[in-house]
Amino acid sequence: MDCLFCKIVVGDIPSHKVYEDDFVYAFLDIYPSSEGHTIVLPKKHIAKFTDMKKKDAASLFFIVNKIARNLEKTMGLEGMNIGINNGEIAGQTVAHVHVHIIPRRAGDGEGNMHTIVELHPPTGNLAELAETIRRSFE
Ligand code: 5GP
Ligand code: ZN
Repeated sequence: MDCLFCKIVVGDIPSHKVYEDDFVYAFLDIYPSSEGHTIVLPKKHIAKFTDMKKKDAASLFFIVNKIARNLEKTMGLEGMNIGINNGEIAGQTVAHVHVHIIPRRAGDGEGNMHTIVELHPPTGNLAELAETIRRSFE
């Protein structure tokens, strides 16, 4: 499997590891958006978050919470952005699911999630759309 992050997990490509257990591997992003920018991924190769089994996705976020809380404490952070680029269209460049934890600091001049995809006035009927999505769970 020619996957950059699989190679990092097994140590074929070096990384600055911050956490590891049987299920996940976490390391510092080589091109950080801020100091402490951490990537958390399942060791098992899965391309996208939406390809994950619900149980695996829950386990991943259980650990993301643990790592984020640890970063908050050890780096004295007041906040961070936590997110996934899910799919190439959303900016995913490495096809092995991973969560970004990006520490934020006062005065860093950066925006929130809405600066990735700007807020727009709604198009279409929100009530109808919500109803369609709700029904798809039935
Ligand atoms: P994506 O754009 O797929 O959500 O995120 C991929 C991330 O992996 C990017 O933030 C990029 O900086 C990081 N990255 C790419 N190659 C390497 C590498 O070889 N080592 C490390 N530590 N991070 C990498
Ligand atoms: Zn992989």
